[in-house]
Amino acid sequence: MADHYNKYGLKHFAGIVADCMGMALPEPYAEPIPWVLEILKARLGGRADRVVLYHADAVGMHIWQKYTHLLAPVYLHSSMTVPFVSTVESVTPVAHATMYTGMDPEGHGIRTYERPQLTCETLFDRWIAEGKKVCIIAQTDSTFLHIFAGRDLDYFELPNNVEIVDKALELIAADSYDVISIHTFDYDDAAHAFGPESKQALNAVSLEAEGFHRIAGALENCRGQHKILLTYSPDHGQHPVMGGTGQHGSKQIEDMNIVHFYATI
Ligand SMILES: [Zn+2]
Repeated sequence: MADHYNKYGLKHFAGIVADCMGMALPEPYAEPIPWVLEILKARLGGRADRVVLYHADAVGMHIWQKYTHLLAPVYLHSSMTVPFVSTVESVTPVAHATMYTGMDPEGHGIRTYERPQLTCETLFDRWIAEGKKVCIIAQTDSTFLHIFAGRDLDYFELPNNVEIVDKALELIAADSYDVISIHTFDYDDAAHAFGPESKQALNAVSLEAEGFHRIAGALENCRGQHKILLTYSPDHGQHPVMGGTGQHGSKQIEDMNIVHFYATI
């Protein structure tokens, strides 16, 4: 059977999140996917007033297909799964710029692995314009700290997933942010170094899924106080290369197909 690219592009991400919060996005953001919105809004029962976006870098759909059990901590809290196709090129700055601007790479201008501060209007700018309190919690030297720099939001830079999740739990307990955007790449690092299906890389999938589980649990403790949208949203996958390491950036199905999970709390 031939491989197939997933149907929906990552540019729909911004619109889905914004619409769940009751925010209209101007052109040129891609329209949200109607049925996804319908389901999420029904489950939220009103506008989401807290949003936590958890980006586990480079966890591709083929990892989910072959090691399905590793994401059980994500299924425990989520109620919808949507397959997406990454950007060309399938690298973090291009994919995340698309997710947070609702635009194809030609629109936001990042088309390869480069990390300029985006000057076009991002979802972060829309949130700030709406008076939302926003933070990014990201691993050391994360792409988020480059392309989304210079905004009136708080940036927390931490060395690994465990410390990132600890920071997220601290901020959730303080209930001080409307939006928390999290970028973690233990899997990406391990997959580059040892291969996408190496023991080290698969351990990192589990570690990051466990991190999602801890965050979801903390949010569930606030059930009833807020309407919360939580997502597990990777940017692209990785494929194995000669010598036992991993890479991405190509149009190979392993790099392009990813899966997002949504939870409403
Ligand atoms: Zn990578």
